Amino acid sequence: MPIATVNPATGETLKTFDALGPREIEDRLAAAHEAFQHHRVTTMDRRQELLRAAADLLEGEQDDVARTMTLEMGKPLAAARAEAAKCVKAMRWYARHTPALLADEHPAEDDVADSGAVRAVVRYRPLGPVLAVMPWNFPLWQVVRFAAPALMAGNVGLLKHASNVPQTALYLEDLFRRAGYRDGCFQTLLIGSAEVATLLRDPRVAAATLTGSEGAGRSVASIAGDVVKKTVLELGGSDPYLVLPSADIAKAAATAVTARTQNNGQSCIAAKRFIVHDDVYDDFTQRFVRAMDALTVGDPMADGTDIGPLATEQVRRDVEELVEDARRQGATVLVGGARPEPDGAGWYYQPTVLADVTDRMRIHREEAFGPVAVLYRVGSLDEALETAHDTPFGLGSNVWTRDPAEQERCARDLQAGGVFVNGMTASHPGLPFGGVKRSGYGRELGGHGIREFCNITTVWYG
Ligand code: NDP
Repeated sequence: MPIATVNPATGETLKTFDALGPREIEDRLAAAHEAFQHHRVTTMDRRQELLRAAADLLEGEQDDVARTMTLEMGKPLAAARAEAAKCVKAMRWYARHTPALLADEHPAEDDVADSGAVRAVVRYRPLGPVLAVMPWNFPLWQVVRFAAPALMAGNVGLLKHASNVPQTALYLEDLFRRAGYRDGCFQTLLIGSAEVATLLRDPRVAAATLTGSEGAGRSVASIAGDVVKKTVLELGGSDPYLVLPSADIAKAAATAVTARTQNNGQSCIAAKRFIVHDDVYDDFTQRFVRAMDALTVGDPMADGTDIGPLATEQVRRDVEELVEDARRQGATVLVGGARPEPDGAGWYYQPTVLADVTDRMRIHREEAFGPVAVLYRVGSLDEALETAHDTPFGLGSNVWTRDPAEQERCARDLQAGGVFVNGMTASHPGLPFGGVKRSGYGRELGGHGIREFCNITTVWYG
C-alpha cells in the first residue's frame, strides 16, 4: 500500500510520502534505544509534566488535527473533534493516575517471611522501546491509548501507522517533540507493513502492540512469538447487541443506530449483530430501520453529516461483497444495501439493515467494517446467548434488559472482553479494554493497560 493521503470523499490523492530506507530505520532504532536509557530514569513528576504539556498542546490544536483525520479517513468532522478531545482526556488521566497505578507493591508479611526475605517489594519497571502497529479508523485515539501509558511507564514508542493516515502519524511525532519529550521518545516510522518483521526481530525493540485485522495480528504475534517478545493484540469484532423484552425499546433502538454507524461503521467495537427477542422484534426493527434510513450520508466536512465515506476503496469493496453474498443466499435487505444514488466520487455506502441471515452467509461470521447491521430474531435468552457466541470474535457485547437476573446472567456468560448493560460499548481511559477469542488478547487502558508493558520486578532483600 503506498504511503499517501487519499481523500475518501473524492478519491483524490492529495499527498504521497517516501517510505524510510534501511539506513533511516536503523537511525530511528538507535534513537529509540538511546532515548529509553534517559526516559526510563526520568522522575514521575517529569513524566507527568511532559504528558500534560502534550495534552495542552493537543487541546489547542483539536480543530486542525480533526480536519487532518477527516481528510485522510473520512470520519465526520464532529466525530474527529470528539476523538481529539478524548485523547486529551486520556493523556490527563494517565498523567494523574500513573503514580498510584505503578506504585511499589508490598507483599503480605507472611509471604515475605516465607520467602526468607527481611523485605520484598514488587516494582513496575519499563520494558524498552515498544512498537505500535496501528490502524486508520481512530487514527489519533488508537495511538494515544498506547502512547500515554507507555510513556508514563517509562517506555518509548515506535509508531508504524496505517499507510493511509501519514499526516496524522507525523502530527503525533511532532506533538510529543513539541511537548518537550527528548528526541527518540516517540517516533513515527513511515514504512510499509513488510518492514514490521525486521523491527520486531531487532533486539532493541522490547515488545509490540497491534490494533487491526486478524491477519495482521496473526503475523505480528507469530514473529513476536519466535523472538519471545510480549504482544498485545486488539483485533476485529462482531459485537452482539441483545434486546430482551423488558428493555426500553425506544432507547435501545436509538442507541443501536449510533452503536452501528459510529465512525461510518468502521469500529471494532461497533455493535454489528442485533439479536432481538421475538416479543419486541417488530417494535425494535421498525424503529431501528426508520432511524437508519433517516441518517444523512455525505461530505464528512459538512455540518449535519452522520455518515461519511468509507476509508478506502477496498473497505467499501469488502462491505459490498459481504452484503451481496448475503443477498444472493436469501437475506432480506430492509434498508440500504447499495451505494447512494447518484454514485459519484468518494467511497460512500448507505446505512444498511439485513434480516433473514443464516450461518451459511459470510456476514454471519465475518466482521462488516461499514454501516451494515444484521438482525436476528430469537425466542429466549438462551437462544440469544447461543447466537451471540456463534462467532469467532469476542470483543465487546451489549445487552438491553431491566431484569436484574438477566443482567447478571449476561455479565457471567457473554464471551467478550466487555459487557455493556443498557448502553453501547465504548472505551474509557479508566476502564480496561480488549477481547477474547479471535478479537485478541491483553488489555489497553486503565491500570491493566499500563501494566501490560511493564517488567513486574520482584526485589528481594536478604
Ligand atoms: P490492517 O490490519 O491491514 O491494518 C492495520 C495496521 O496493520 C496497519 O498499520 C497496517 O499497515 C498493518 N499491517 C497490515 N498487515 C500487516 C502485517 N502482515 N504485518 C504487520 N503489520 C501489518 O487493516 P486494514 O486497514 O487492511 O483493514 C482490514 C480489516 O481489518 C477491516 O475491514 C477490519 O475488519 C479490520 N480492522 C480492525 C480494526 C480495529 O480497530 N480492530 C481497525 C482497522 C481494521 P498498512 O496500512 O501499511 O498495510
